[in-house]
Amino acid sequence: MLRADAVRKSFGDHEVLKGVSLDITAGEVVCLIGASGSGKSTLLRCLNLLEQVDDGDIWFGDREITDPRVDADAVRRDIGIVFQAYNLFPHLTVEQNIVLGPVKSRGESREAARTRAHTLLERVGLADRAGAYPDAMSGGQQQRVALVRAIAMQPRLLLLDEITSALDPMLVGEVLDVIRDLRAEGMTIVMATHEMTFAREVSDRIVFMADGRIEESGTPEQMFTAPRSPRTAEFLARHL
Ligand code: ADP
Ligand code: MG
Repeated sequence: MLRADAVRKSFGDHEVLKGVSLDITAGEVVCLIGASGSGKSTLLRCLNLLEQVDDGDIWFGDREITDPRVDADAVRRDIGIVFQAYNLFPHLTVEQNIVLGPVKSRGESREAARTRAHTLLERVGLADRAGAYPDAMSGGQQQRVALVRAIAMQPRLLLLDEITSALDPMLVGEVLDVIRDLRAEGMTIVMATHEMTFAREVSDRIVFMADGRIEESGTPEQMFTAPRSPRTAEFLARHL
């Protein structure tokens, strides 16, 4: 579904991605782990063209999306992203937040978009909050709405960047539950996370990044019980 090949990205003279190659198969859940500053967010942002790569290329299906002629907005309709900070529009209700994308950029009818918004809200346990404003909700509720807003666009791939990091520990579980459901439905997900226990449970593959490179990747079982790289072993020992 997605292939990054030798992707490089610098900010000024700081090279943040030093040749990252990654293959994502449809239906796979891949967790990106690694110390703060290792390049996880930059990689995710490159994958949906929020950052322009300096070198290397990225393929989405049979399209090279790093080709400058590609319509980045069209790619972003197919690759959803949710960030750590919920980024809901504060002046719009939950329903308006969710309906906006499908109506404005997918050309859906408002009725169809509203119907799906309600179905999705029900699935994340927020059916009764459609008319609420974001600041009247907990962080966990807002993040579930942010997930619904991304899914309402019917993306083929979902990128999640530390979406539980800003939440009170008590609210993390309700957001992880939504990710478990998405996985069960077959959604393809690449997520940067610090939740190691969750990464181990939910992912098909774990990718450990260090200093702008993929240091090691493998199944959760292999990575957690028999890491090949001493750097992976050291990171996991500190974060479990
Ligand atoms: P991670 O998500 O693993 O913590 P990031 O991709 O956010 O890592 O950051 C990797 C490095 O790139 C950090 O040193 C960060 O300061 C730097 N960086 C990220 N975005 C920018 C930017 N827009 N401008 C300058 N430096 C950046
Ligand atoms: Mg990050």
